[in-house]
Amino acid sequence: MSLDQFLQDLDRDIRDRAEWGAVADYIPELGRIDPAQFGIAVALADGQVLTAGQARTGFSIQSVSKVFALACVLGRIGEQLWLRVGREPSGDRFDSILLLEQEKGRPRNPFINAGALVVTDEMLTGRSPQQALAEVLGFVRAAAGDDAIHIDKAVARSEARTGHRNTALAHYLRSFGNLKAPPDHVLGTYVHQCAIEMSCVQLARAGRVIAGLDCAPTLLSKVKQRRINALMMTCGQYDGSGNFAFRVGMPAKSGVGGGLLVIAPGKASIAIWSPGLDGWGNSQMGTLAAERLAEFTGWSVFG
Ligand code: GLN
Repeated sequence: MSLDQFLQDLDRDIRDRAEWGAVADYIPELGRIDPAQFGIAVALADGQVLTAGQARTGFSIQSVSKVFALACVLGRIGEQLWLRVGREPSGDRFDSILLLEQEKGRPRNPFINAGALVVTDEMLTGRSPQQALAEVLGFVRAAAGDDAIHIDKAVARSEARTGHRNTALAHYLRSFGNLKAPPDHVLGTYVHQCAIEMSCVQLARAGRVIAGLDCAPTLLSKVKQRRINALMMTCGQYDGSGNFAFRVGMPAKSGVGGGLLVIAPGKASIAIWSPGLDGWGNSQMGTLAAERLAEFTGWSVFG
C-alpha cells in the first residue's frame, strides 16, 4: 500500500472510531471547538507533502510553538540557556508549579509552561514583546516558506484573561530571579506565541527544519536539530512522554489545541491535528494516528 493510500484509510478509521477526547476548555476560545475533527500532513525529504482529512484547516498550535521559540533562543544565546532551564523530563503536568519550589526556580525543561516562560523571557532580552513575537513568527514563516501564517488574537486574548496559573508561574519564577522582563511582558508574548494559527500542511512544512530534511531551508545547525529532537522525545508530551515514546518512538511536541508535530529525523516532518485531548493534555486521536503511522512506515527511531 502507498503512504498516500495509508493516510486516506487512517483518516477513515479515526473518524469511524470517534473516540475524540475533550477539548481544552480552560482557554474559553479553544473550548468552543468541535472535537470531532482530524487532519494529517506528511512532508517528505523530496519536498512532497501528502495529506488526509482536514489538513488545510487552521488550528491554534499552542505548545508546539515552544519548539520554535526554543530554536530561536538556542540560535541567539546557545548553551547559556541551560543555566536557567533544565533538560530533564518532569513527570508532572505541563502547568505544574510543584518542582519549581524544590528546584529553586529552575524549570525542569523548556517545554513545560514554566520552562517555556523562561525561554520567552530570554527572547525578550534586548527586545520589545512585538519584536520578540516577530522573531518567532518570522522563524516559523521562514521554516514553512509561508508568510500567510499569523497569530489568532482572539485566542491570545482569551488565554490572557483566564491564564491565572501561568501568571502565578511567571511571578514565582521572578521571585527566584529567573525572570528578567516584567511578568506581564513575558505572559503577553507567551500567549501570542501560543496563539499562532497553522494548518497541518503549514506545520509539517515548518517542522522540516527540525527533521533536517533535504528540502528544508537551513535555519538550524545539525547539533541544534539533534538537541531539539532529544528534548522532544524526552519531554515533548510532558508526563505522557514515556507513553508516547513507547507507542510511537519518534520525537514529537503536542499542544492543547490538539496539534502534534512528529519528527522522523532525515525522513519526514509530520503534523497531525485532532482537538480532543487525553488526560495528559495531548491529542487523543493524534497520538493514535502517530502510532499507526509509525507502525506502517517503520519510522520509529528505535528501529
Ligand atoms: N498556552 C497553553 C498554556 O500555557 C499551552 C499549553 C499546552 O499547549 N500544553 O496553558
